[in-house]
Amino acid sequence: MAKLSFSSWFAHYPARLLGGLGLSLACWGWGELGSIAAAHVVKIQDSGDILLTYDPPAIAEHQAIYESLASNGFFDALVDELNTDLAFPQDIQITFTECGEVNAFYYPDYVEVTMCYELLEQFIYIFGVEDGTDGFDDAVIDASLFTFFHELGHALVHQYELPITGREEDAVDDFAAVMLIDIYGDEAGLLSGMWQFESEAIEEQENLADLPYWGEHSLSTQRFYNTACLIYGSEPNTYEFLIEEGALPEDRAERCPAEYEQKSRAWFTLLERFWQGE
Ligand SMILES: [Zn+2]
Repeated sequence: MAKLSFSSWFAHYPARLLGGLGLSLACWGWGELGSIAAAHVVKIQDSGDILLTYDPPAIAEHQAIYESLASNGFFDALVDELNTDLAFPQDIQITFTECGEVNAFYYPDYVEVTMCYELLEQFIYIFGVEDGTDGFDDAVIDASLFTFFHELGHALVHQYELPITGREEDAVDDFAAVMLIDIYGDEAGLLSGMWQFESEAIEEQENLADLPYWGEHSLSTQRFYNTACLIYGSEPNTYEFLIEEGALPEDRAERCPAEYEQKSRAWFTLLERFWQGE
């Protein structure tokens, strides 16, 4: 998947917007428009980093997940890149650990994200990959990546005091998708996030009487379609198979390129003050 840099996104967006209004841009370079957009942004001081920890587990089943995370270096490299790209007002701790429940959290009081081995274990089980087989390291990364960005999204909403309208849970799902599509280009992690919602959606369909309509999160069925819509909308030709395989109904797909553009623009705009990478 093409990886878009932050500055190149701003360079192409105003051109697309003004082009849509029918204005002639023959005497303007796209890059000039991008730098005009960037010139008015006051950046924040970088006073913190993401700190990453993998806690050794007490339960034997989590040992292979812990060892894979600690040895493959994927999240260490990703965190290095995030620390280069983003300015933080203070440190944000991200800890992979045993929680005693299948979940992941952001704790505003401690400025800490917790990624539970139990959740990763469940997602790896969905992928059907056994510990000790060739694909295990990739499965551990794919099981973690969407949730990692979802929880980081909560941390950024809190730390940057971002103005979010609508439900924060939906907004940070969009953040995870936009980051994985546009900035950190990770198709496997992105599609894995979508399939994780699908597996939870199947469970929902089996327990229709107990659906948590009162919950903060959209139903997993909706999170599945929303994620599928953003993926398809980002590159309709590449992800045509989502329609063909029935993951995305035609009725929704029609508007997905515009939905993707809207979500992507919203997150790029919200993050512009805090972005220090290319
Ligand atoms: Zn959440």
